[in-house]
Amino acid sequence: MADNKKEIQRRRTFAIISHPDAGKTTLTEKLLLYGGAINLAGSVKGKATARHAVSDWMEIEKERGISVTSSVLQFEYDGYCINILDTPGHQDFSEDTYRTLMAADSAVMVIDASKGVEAQTRKLFKVCVMRKIPIFTFINKMDREANDTFDLLDEIEKELGIATCPMNWPIGSGKAFQGVYDRNDREVSLFSDTQRGTKEGEITKVSINDPKIQEIIGIDAFGKLTDEIELLDGASTPFRLDEVQAGELSPVFFGSALTNFGVQTFLEHFLKMTTAPLPRFADSGIIDPVSEDFSAFVFKIQANMNKAHRDRIAFMRICSGKFDAAQEVYHVQGEKKMRLSQPQQLMAQERKVVEEAYAGDIIGVFDPGLFSIGDTFCSPSRKFAYEGIPTFAPEHFARVRQVDTMKRKQFVKGVTQIAQEGAIQIFQELHSGLEEIIVGVVGVLQFDVLKYRLNNEYNVEIILENLPYEYIRWIENTDIDMDSLTGTSDMKKIQDLKGRPLLLFVNSWSIGMTLDRNKGLILSEFGRS
Ligand code: GDP
Repeated sequence: MADNKKEIQRRRTFAIISHPDAGKTTLTEKLLLYGGAINLAGSVKGKATARHAVSDWMEIEKERGISVTSSVLQFEYDGYCINILDTPGHQDFSEDTYRTLMAADSAVMVIDASKGVEAQTRKLFKVCVMRKIPIFTFINKMDREANDTFDLLDEIEKELGIATCPMNWPIGSGKAFQGVYDRNDREVSLFSDTQRGTKEGEITKVSINDPKIQEIIGIDAFGKLTDEIELLDGASTPFRLDEVQAGELSPVFFGSALTNFGVQTFLEHFLKMTTAPLPRFADSGIIDPVSEDFSAFVFKIQANMNKAHRDRIAFMRICSGKFDAAQEVYHVQGEKKMRLSQPQQLMAQERKVVEEAYAGDIIGVFDPGLFSIGDTFCSPSRKFAYEGIPTFAPEHFARVRQVDTMKRKQFVKGVTQIAQEGAIQIFQELHSGLEEIIVGVVGVLQFDVLKYRLNNEYNVEIILENLPYEYIRWIENTDIDMDSLTGTSDMKKIQDLKGRPLLLFVNSWSIGMTLDRNKGLILSEFGRS
């Protein structure tokens, strides 16, 4: 137990989120470099998934190992065992990212200094806030012309509704970028653009009180810096670790991932401020990561596109105790004891079989088609279930019909399996069966993926008819009489496969109207799986 405790407490499990192109991949590569996990940055993975054609996605997915819609990278640094949860770059796969955030204990938000807060960041941020996990901000690309630093911070605070606390402060940007000032050490780290891709580059540090500093960065830059520091020390939110850990205050770092400037400082501060694996809620109460036996929940299922092996890999986050491949575990939703087969972990780019893993770690296991997102595994002596993973509101809807109605069985099997993987959500008309289903997706690309996969893997051809709805709401009231519910004329009543009622709306105005007309109605943006 004592060993378990040590292993668990040195784990740091986090996700990196960003709008595409802000520099998530580049930052991840540089972090791995510090872990000695790879020798040369730039080799983490092909960026192909982030490229924007469906055909690309399909080609890669056909040949994929795990790494494409990638999963987790584990490496060691300074006594810590770090798990970076990788998230798909393409926004149409953002639902996968939402779920990945459920498995993380903190998030690093990468922002492009010349763009500020972008659409995708905003959405992902909402999920972090819902979970109240610590959020760290890395403002990237300072070697390019950046927006005004105060404006950037203001934007984050206003747009995302979180207080910020700059840990360091940039001196200029673009061609005039000279480095960053560390507010704690009161030292300037000087930028040099000679270290691309390596971690050996020397960083020169000069104290702000050193008379040479004026000469080094120039009188104007020095004057501006001292003014800004004064303003900052007087006006910015003071650093409070408890607020950071409660997800109320985001420490902000500036740097340039591409030139590997500011990355190591960021990593070191981050590791100290973020938390070890957090306790999680189950139906039996709070589960302590250290003192409990093994438990985990599935947050992602990835199908193998190869027709010859229609197997899947279920990724689970270990929430407590130690996983031992030799021991049996209990699959709570399936009510079955089993040994997890082919447990594996991704170390940098290498996939390897694991014999043991600890709370905080992610393992991928072979899924014979029995597991669903949100499922709990625990030691057979303890049977509890973790809170499910919320179902994120789809924003696009289509009616799906089979071309050949004789292939009903394959059709139902295909859509249900794809829905189990979380790639799509399926709904039915009220009081009807699965003859015709309504599919909801977070990104429109998923419609094409569905069509392609049904055809390719299940030999079923479908016709998709787009529906005008953009908003879905789960009805929280348990005693609702759907027939007497009155909404706007463009509202649609549907149900999910478990028979839970939902409403579809064309615009947000209709949601308000419906709430007005049905006193006591409670609608929610998230469902429970
Ligand atoms: P992702 O989509 O968020 O994973 O972004 P990438 O890491 O792929 O970066 C997108 C583009 O920005 C690539 O061409 C990178 O080389 C470039 N990039 C990333 N970080 C920096 C940086 O610090 N400075 C500059 N100038 N370019 C960067």
